Amino acid sequence: MTDLEPTDTVFVDVDTQVDFVEPDGALYVPGAERLKPAFARLVAIARAHARPVVASSDAHPEDDPEFATFPPHCLAGTPGQRRVAETEPARARVIAADGTDRGGEGQTIVLEKVAFDLFTNPAAEATLAASGARTAIVFGVALDYCVRAAALGLAARGYETVLVRDATAPVTAEGGARVEEELRAAGVRFASTDEIAAAFA
Ligand SMILES: [Zn+2]
Repeated sequence: MTDLEPTDTVFVDVDTQVDFVEPDGALYVPGAERLKPAFARLVAIARAHARPVVASSDAHPEDDPEFATFPPHCLAGTPGQRRVAETEPARARVIAADGTDRGGEGQTIVLEKVAFDLFTNPAAEATLAASGARTAIVFGVALDYCVRAAALGLAARGYETVLVRDATAPVTAEGGARVEEELRAAGVRFASTDEIAAAFA
């Protein structure tokens, strides 16, 4: 990662929400709570270097069609929908799933969504473009669903995409292994939190 240019980066925090990360969450990703120190380090690096953080956030209505496939989770406005303390920003601009700007400001821009892919938020492309960055540092959950969609979407849009391997986890190990291959084939690179920290040191 020695070629990573810190001033060209945007951090993409995918769904580090209570319902996915905490063991008692509604759609807990196995082992995700053990990623919290890595999440905290990455957010601290972004904050210390004044780099933008684009944070996707599932925000489902009660009757969401996704609940035919998955148990209800991340219901908009509930405690389970909040980010974990490690990634919850003190201040943020929030953009609703339909692209409506809910206001607020800060280094973090929250993109709400009702599907796996953060690019289903119509403001996603413009939000990322406004960061001016060409390198996306991606972390969060779940690797085989929403992280996959984010990384593939970023790579397809020409971003140098770096997935922080020790700051993500899959729902199933087989799914994770398959997705890692798929991401490599799409040109996504992998790094550790230590390597990201070293690149910013
Ligand atoms: Zn969902």
